[in-house]
Amino acid sequence: LSIDKRILASRITLSLAIVAGITAVCSRVLPVNATTAGFAYLLGVLGIATAWGLIEAVIASVAAMLCFNFFFLPPVGQFSIADAQNWVALFAFLATALVASHVSDREKKQAREAKARQRETEQLYALSRFILLTDPAQSIGRQVTQHIAEIFDCGAVALYDATTAEVFRGGLEDFPEPDPPGIEGKLKQVALQGASLSDHATLIRAIVLGGRPIGSLAMKGLSLSDGALQALLNLVAIALERVRTEETASRAEAARQSEEFKSTLLDAIAHEFKTPLTSIKAASTSILSDSAPLSAQQHELATIIDEEADRLSLLVTEAVRMAQIDAGKVRLERAPLNLVDLLHRVLNHFAAQAEGRELKLSAADSLPEIVADRDLIALALRQLIDNALKYSPPGSPVSVRADRQGASVIIRIHDCGPGIPERERDRIFEKFYRRQSVKTHVPGTGLGLHIAREIVRAHGGDVWVEGEPGAGSEFCVALPVSAGKPPEQSA
Ligand code: ADP
Repeated sequence: LSIDKRILASRITLSLAIVAGITAVCSRVLPVNATTAGFAYLLGVLGIATAWGLIEAVIASVAAMLCFNFFFLPPVGQFSIADAQNWVALFAFLATALVASHVSDREKKQAREAKARQRETEQLYALSRFILLTDPAQSIGRQVTQHIAEIFDCGAVALYDATTAEVFRGGLEDFPEPDPPGIEGKLKQVALQGASLSDHATLIRAIVLGGRPIGSLAMKGLSLSDGALQALLNLVAIALERVRTEETASRAEAARQSEEFKSTLLDAIAHEFKTPLTSIKAASTSILSDSAPLSAQQHELATIIDEEADRLSLLVTEAVRMAQIDAGKVRLERAPLNLVDLLHRVLNHFAAQAEGRELKLSAADSLPEIVADRDLIALALRQLIDNALKYSPPGSPVSVRADRQGASVIIRIHDCGPGIPERERDRIFEKFYRRQSVKTHVPGTGLGLHIAREIVRAHGGDVWVEGEPGAGSEFCVALPVSAGKPPEQSA
């Protein structure tokens, strides 16, 4: 302020000096008549008003009127206030001062505004450029706040990301936080309400994307027009959204790579298992079929080796198929299929490990054939029956029933276990999902139901679970009957 006053004082002095100069030139150096002198003063006032402003021009006008009166209006060398010419001159000088200073003020203001707009555009451009080129290895929130503080000359900047509930800070100063909830509390409040807040020199605005607040931004000492501020907030919204998209993409990529890795690893392990298993199987078959008689005990042991080699071999084949299905690499080999025959075979497979438990099969008469991949459907059914045995009390029965229902065949696998609560009936089919109650004491991978559902869905059917809680669970498999459809190969 004191600098402004000093500048004003020196300008007034200069204005007076200009008037004195004009007087000296017009009366002494090249003496001119009163009219010419009047014009010279007018020009002087016009110049002062345009260059500096109203105050300087008004003072110069009064001084010019006095000099004009004293030096040029007759009687020269004497003030004659009564003369009408005197007032005309004063009016002309003042009017000139007023109009010229007003016009020049407006020009200057427009120029200032244009400059400010240009600066804002440059700042916004710098910010958008930076947002496009952010270093993904570092936290984008931190980078954004630091750059806003630098580009827009803010003492302090804080950004609240509502998705992660993180607050990032930038700038060299701190926010004044005299009363709770402090800057972080206010940021959260603003983001929640989608409103804006300003106190002291701090401005807090919500960041909105698609009509939904996704965070908020606090800036101390920011001077921006409303339009530019809105553009700044939009840019920050884009930056936050970009972080989100990149995170999702990299998570998806990581998941894909890990899937691929798992399936390759399983393939490799299976391959390593196959060779020794083939040798064991060949050896046991040859011992059993050898003409040399075996003792009863030797025969029993050789049979165990032979059967277990078969079981292991099946397990390995299944593990590989599972990995393939899981990696989406499965090809269905469809053929007409008698489901009752298949169910018999699958249940026989479990008979050995059912330890005397009742495995009941019932089927409607004249069940239509379906066209399906026999091995894969068997694999899916094995998962469900295996679960029914695994998750129900020892000794309790498991029953399987097949019926026709409209254009589908429905297979129901019922057990007397604890059942599945309503809220988990979808989740148990998710990959790797295992119920909390079994996690620690029943071995499993959480893949079985997922794989069963993938197989059934690949056939155009579905799997779901029914049953009253406490009265066991009933897993239902629906497979479409494709009457008269020729066997086909499909992916
Ligand atoms: P896993 O059996 O390897 O855990 P699954 O995908 O086959 O994986 O099953 C997922 C979860 O669903 C199991 O952990 C278990 O908690 C639950 N579940 C599956 N079948 C039954 C069933 N018949 N009775 C009760 N719970 C079951």
